[in-house]
Amino acid sequence: MTRFLLDTMLGRLATYLRMCGHDTGYALDQGVEADGRIIKTAREAGRVLLTRDRDLADRYEGGFLLESRDLHGQLQEVVDAGYALELPETPERCGVCNGSLGTIPPDSRTPSYAPSPDETDLWQCGDCGQFFWKGSHWDNVAKRLEEIG
Ligand SMILES: [Zn+2]
Repeated sequence: MTRFLLDTMLGRLATYLRMCGHDTGYALDQGVEADGRIIKTAREAGRVLLTRDRDLADRYEGGFLLESRDLHGQLQEVVDAGYALELPETPERCGVCNGSLGTIPPDSRTPSYAPSPDETDLWQCGDCGQFFWKGSHWDNVAKRLEEIG
């Protein structure tokens, strides 16, 4: 798994990379927007920096320029650069905050937005508390990744 830092405007891509199990920081989540701060954050954590800003990509040895504006094109560029994008058998990482997911036991109480854990496998983020399951969103992501060559 690759550790990424994504520049602003790449929030949807961040969700996809996290769902594929990659440790993915997002500049806006971390409150860093200035180029110098983004490079410093990426370098300190040894992360690959994905950005749509050519200058920023050139200024950091681990920088990678994404040319596409749309999510599909960006996913294709990431795959073309040699990074695997496949959903794991078991969800590992929170698409919202990048935290690690833990399994929810079948007899647990869950919020009303989530299915019952005795009928559906559920996971919960250890950081933000969000619940996840393999529902229609998971299927949509899987379908979109299959379309990437
Ligand atoms: Zn989370």
